[in-house]
Amino acid sequence: MGERGRAVARFLELGSELSIRIVRLIMYYAPVAVFCYAAWLISQYGPEMLKAYASFLGVQYGFSIFHFIVVYSIIVTLGGLSPLTYFKHQLTPFIVAFTTRSSAVTLPYNMEAAKRMGVPDEMFRVTLPIGATVNMDGTALYQALSALFIAQLFGIPLSPAQYGLVIFAALVGSVATAAIPGGGLVMLAFVFSVVGLPLEGIGIMAVIDTFADAIRTAINVSGDNACTVFLTKIMGYKLTPTS
Ligand code: ASP
Repeated sequence: MGERGRAVARFLELGSELSIRIVRLIMYYAPVAVFCYAAWLISQYGPEMLKAYASFLGVQYGFSIFHFIVVYSIIVTLGGLSPLTYFKHQLTPFIVAFTTRSSAVTLPYNMEAAKRMGVPDEMFRVTLPIGATVNMDGTALYQALSALFIAQLFGIPLSPAQYGLVIFAALVGSVATAAIPGGGLVMLAFVFSVVGLPLEGIGIMAVIDTFADAIRTAINVSGDNACTVFLTKIMGYKLTPTS
């Protein structure tokens, strides 16, 4: 439409800019809102709420660490690497992920660790960037646990079929989660709506997200390297770890 069509393009451009500004404004005030919501929740439900949060984090950290130590040991052993060598080299990316809460930011550290584990460049340069965006076991575990936590908090009984849905939704939700701090919290909207849980639950989970995100990101990045080791074996490469 030439010159006349530019008005439509300009309209869409303004719409896009307006949405970005609205999101920025919301994100700017979100910490204040989460703090106020937490204060209100605790004033309403007292120490019971703090106890519920503490048990959630206890269970999440417990399962995540179990997954890291037991499941990843099995995976790297199947890949022909000693779990001790894996843990030694994985420690730095684990700490970086725990503190930055971003798989994307941790990617260079994970690549360095893969190199030390003896994975050839052509393997980890493909698997780790893909893994950082789609392979998130820590997030899947967190999203499934959050769904159960919110269901219990609101007294909503779940049928066996809904448990299956929770697993499915957490799996899909974790794949779709962005490798940035808080990405998994946003995707709870998808998981909760699949199971029919109230979306207010996201506000409740936001209160403790800093702590929950730290461990799930550390597990996410560690899983990427464990799977990379395993794939290296399947592809017929030989691992030559540095001591
Ligand atoms: N922060 C996580 C990551 O970067 C994603 C999430 O929030 O679950 O892996």
